[in-house]
Amino acid sequence: MKLSLIIPVFNEKEVLPVLLDALRPVLAGFRCDYEIVFIDDGSRDGTRQLLTAAAASDPRIKVLGFSRNFGHQAAITAGLDFVSGDAAVVMDADLQDPPELLRDMVGLFEQGFDVVSAQRTGREGEGPFKRWTAAAFYRLMRRAIDERLRPQVGDFRLFSRRAVLALRGFREQHRFMRGLVAWLGLKEAILPFHRPARAAGTTKYPAWKMARFAWTAISSFSALPLKLSLVGGLLLTALGFLYGGFVLYETFVLQTTVRGWGSLVCLQLLFSGATLTAVGLVGDYVGRIYEELKGRPLYVVSEVTNLAPPVLPPRG
Ligand code: UDP
Ligand code: MG
Repeated sequence: MKLSLIIPVFNEKEVLPVLLDALRPVLAGFRCDYEIVFIDDGSRDGTRQLLTAAAASDPRIKVLGFSRNFGHQAAITAGLDFVSGDAAVVMDADLQDPPELLRDMVGLFEQGFDVVSAQRTGREGEGPFKRWTAAAFYRLMRRAIDERLRPQVGDFRLFSRRAVLALRGFREQHRFMRGLVAWLGLKEAILPFHRPARAAGTTKYPAWKMARFAWTAISSFSALPLKLSLVGGLLLTALGFLYGGFVLYETFVLQTTVRGWGSLVCLQLLFSGATLTAVGLVGDYVGRIYEELKGRPLYVVSEVTNLAPPVLPPRG
């Protein structure tokens, strides 16, 4: 059997030597053949040079260099497109996904599971804000997208060849890999682990990238926000009618003069805000349709080392 590792890297100069040192003994312990596919997601800190040097001394280390930063999810996609193993494992470069887990993952794969997902039972080196938002994210995603989404499962996963081929079929622009995996519905095993802190370097996912990621996850899998804005619109309309009734009552029964200015300004703001939000939401979805329609490539490779070109499914 052959095992492929898919490791996206973006400005990870500090952690790469540590990673390679940690991987070598674990992989040497396997009796199987292996390859490590690094996807350099447009690093600007000398990561690429480090990777090419490592690849020059070991043909099992392979490098896909992107022409610019296309994002973590695009990098995983490229890795899946290029690997040739019977099983492929996606992992982070910062050793937050411990290589020691590979043995158990492969064990479960040999038992016949198509997807082996590592589940975080605890997180180190992450503040209360990240923990709380992550927990809320998983809860919301399961409600809004798919019950099959596993809580606390990130992208650290093993995929069988069958799963890899199935994932190659998805060519959508706005990608949420975890959702795609849930969508596949293949036989999945869960492997709990304690997530350590980063071995070196800093996170490449600042808060704004996390927010964008969460929005991509929701909007690429569900039209729930549009439905919510419809419900919100209907509620506001109902409120408008109620208030109208109250005003009539005030005028004709209580015969008090209509005071009005403050409430008018408030209502005006409320309604135009709600309308603009709804239009903006629709606009966001239309924009995504537009981007999908253009069918642009998901990434552009500018440099390849030790790798043959991939076989991609024809575009539908
Ligand atoms: N990464 C990437 N492209 C990006 C951002 C991140 O390839 O635009 C890689 C990064 O090098 C790392 C992995 O994705 O190997 C996960 O990123 P990070 O560890 O910074 O995320 P966190 O664990 O803090 O959520
Ligand atoms: Mg990390």
